[in-house]
Amino acid sequence: MARSYLLIVFGIFGLLLQVQCSQYDNHTLIRLYPWNLDQLHSAAKFEDPAGEVEILKVSRGVNDSLDVLVPPNKVQFVRDYADSKGLHYEVKQQNYGRTLEDTPDRLPRRRVLSSFNIFRYNSFANMQEFIEVAAKKNPSLVQLQDLGKSFQGRRMKLVKISSRPAAGNPIIFIDAGIHAREWVAPAMALYLVHRLTSDPEALKAGGPLDGVDWYILPLVNPDGYEFTRSSRNNRMWRKTRSKHQGSQCLGVDGNRNYGFKWAVSGVSNDPCHKETFAGPQPFSEPETQMVRNIMMDNSKRIKLYVSLHSYGQYLVYPWGYTGDILPQEWKKLDDMARAVSSAVQQAGGSPFKVMSAGKWYPAAGGSDDFAFGAAGVPYSYTMELTDGFEFTFPESRLSTVLPQFYEGFKMFGSRIRNEFGRLRKKRDVAEV
Ligand SMILES: [Zn+2]
Repeated sequence: MARSYLLIVFGIFGLLLQVQCSQYDNHTLIRLYPWNLDQLHSAAKFEDPAGEVEILKVSRGVNDSLDVLVPPNKVQFVRDYADSKGLHYEVKQQNYGRTLEDTPDRLPRRRVLSSFNIFRYNSFANMQEFIEVAAKKNPSLVQLQDLGKSFQGRRMKLVKISSRPAAGNPIIFIDAGIHAREWVAPAMALYLVHRLTSDPEALKAGGPLDGVDWYILPLVNPDGYEFTRSSRNNRMWRKTRSKHQGSQCLGVDGNRNYGFKWAVSGVSNDPCHKETFAGPQPFSEPETQMVRNIMMDNSKRIKLYVSLHSYGQYLVYPWGYTGDILPQEWKKLDDMARAVSSAVQQAGGSPFKVMSAGKWYPAAGGSDDFAFGAAGVPYSYTMELTDGFEFTFPESRLSTVLPQFYEGFKMFGSRIRNEFGRLRKKRDVAEV
């Protein structure tokens, strides 16, 4: 009898241990700081040939950190690399997995719209329900376009917000969450839908919906996102969840999968690479195909594309595939980015670091390069939201930062209206 009790007790204890352990428990977060250009190049070249060290964030400037997540057997390897290149480094967090454990926002949430909170990391189902309700409440303002299904069969919808859908206004196209673990990105996209559909200021003259239409795809990679919510072990997943012939490893880095200068730099050809596998061919993923189709179907009207990511507080523009050349129009791209950064800063937020995406870390096949180079969108950006918490930006701080970022989007809106709305009006007048 006593023996069976003991077995039960040990059984439960074992189960608890299983629940609490994650593959990241004994991992160490290390930040490496390049202090000069030579060191910056060394940081950009860092790679673990065995693929065990995960790169969380690349360094995009002098004094800007390269963040790596390191298993115990690789800590010395990273230290040796840093020492040999003269890179200063900080061991930020040992037992990194336990940091994930302490984060309440990793828990899957039940689908209960009555308790819906825009300042939460909502499930995909909850997000879908939110946009359905927004469309039902505002039928003259919001239209949903069915885009098809993700690899695992999740139905995806584009939110089109327009005060005058027949006017042919310039379009601002926003997407978010191509990278599964970057939870703050879809939270921001959904917050944009919320503000644009519920804030009376949005419709006023000079407001973001005055003469500008907003197309928002709040979550490009719902399969990956739900996977990161399924357990602490999966929280750091980045790619899609697709299966490909000839490999046991799942998923593609969606932001290396676009068909413009595909795979020429900053990608892996190994399907088992955790971060940057570019896919078996361009647009192998149904999710990137959907974004491509939105861009191509509306290429004449989309004047601004912003892809939301985290983290690092960067606002970067083409080219991403190379650091050797800039687009002719780079000053306009740079200028708009700085205006947006100032607007966020005036609202109490942190300024963005503005530069071309590939300046220090070329990576091809990104959606921003495709929009700019293939779809002819004149303003195209990747926005890396927040800094200082890696991918686990605290849920409790969303109510502070999302409204600050929104001020930046209002600036995007007024810039696009000023540049393209007026041109349109002039042309209309000429046609009359
Ligand atoms: Zn990303």
